[in-house]
Amino acid sequence: MDILIIWLLITPLFFAFGWFAGRIDMKVVLKQAKQLPQRVFDGVDALVDNNTGIASDELKQLVEQEPQLIEPQFSLGRLYRKRGENDLAIRLHTKLLASQYVMSNQLKDKIRLELAQDFQKAGLIDRSEALLVQLLNSELYSHQALEMLLLIYQQDKNWSDAIETAKKLANSDFSFHTEVAQFICELAQEAIIKSDLEKAKELLQNALEINRKCVRANILLGDVYFNLEDYQQSITTWQLIEKQNFLYLPLIMDKMFDAYLRLDKVKECLTLIKGYVTLYPKLNMYDFVYQKLSNYDTQEATVEYLRSAMQHTPNSKIAALLINARLSELETVDGKQDAEHIKNILLKYNNKLSNYHCGCCNFKSKTFFWQCPACYSWESISPNNTEN
Ligand SMILES: [Zn+2]
Repeated sequence: MDILIIWLLITPLFFAFGWFAGRIDMKVVLKQAKQLPQRVFDGVDALVDNNTGIASDELKQLVEQEPQLIEPQFSLGRLYRKRGENDLAIRLHTKLLASQYVMSNQLKDKIRLELAQDFQKAGLIDRSEALLVQLLNSELYSHQALEMLLLIYQQDKNWSDAIETAKKLANSDFSFHTEVAQFICELAQEAIIKSDLEKAKELLQNALEINRKCVRANILLGDVYFNLEDYQQSITTWQLIEKQNFLYLPLIMDKMFDAYLRLDKVKECLTLIKGYVTLYPKLNMYDFVYQKLSNYDTQEATVEYLRSAMQHTPNSKIAALLINARLSELETVDGKQDAEHIKNILLKYNNKLSNYHCGCCNFKSKTFFWQCPACYSWESISPNNTEN
């Protein structure tokens, strides 16, 4: 009987404790649910409105109140970097790395990767590199560390380490052949500048073994033979470019003509040029071909070429060259002055609109680059500058 009475008393007490405990927990949960999402939503709203300042303030208050929340701290760090507040990002990630809430090695590695990006963005490349080297044995982040190191080595023009890193990154999806051959070409270029032509030749042959489509290797190899005064071999080497990728022919036409000139074979070169013009009428070699034809061929051949070019790719440059070619046919001084005036306007227009542009990021430039300075892609810039 006594036991029954005790149970009758205890059972409601258990329910009461459970109810109170439930009330307390729900209160905390509701309180958090009220506070946390609101800041996050305010931050998201600010981001939608492109107001990254308010977004970072909201996130900053959130992580100050709830330092145990790690993910929002990564978001805040990225937001700081996006806003160019690299010092704040560095401070945040350094503090996070020492936080009592960061226990696992994987999480520490993730923070080191963020910190490396902060240092890189702040221009502290050595510190970034040191952190990335530490991450090379990381289970989860070694690949990303290698990718970042590859970018750093390229920025530093440390081509030997860039080659080694690219080889480590190579897999069945992405061979890095284009990049490695380009890095070797950079080393060969350095050797040419130092007049170490034998070393340059060796490097360029290696670049071609890695990527037989590497146009730049043949351009530089032709330069090496030219410097060795082996003009015939330089011509033979440059002619290989047509089969590799004819779009790059405009880059070597001047050099090739010079080599033919030294061999006293200008006529042979003119035949070759006319062949290229017929086969590839859209290549931007108009200026070069016009200059060579007007200096070494007849007036009729020059005008015929320009008319044909005008039909294939009508543009202001060819129009200006055509006016220039026929200027002497005008009889009056006024007529010549008008034609000259129109020609100059066309040339100005062409100069303003002619750009080399990157097929990856649409970066535009007056200068040709093998590597896009904006997106760092190799061979993404077309060698034919066009009016656009
Ligand atoms: Zn680009």
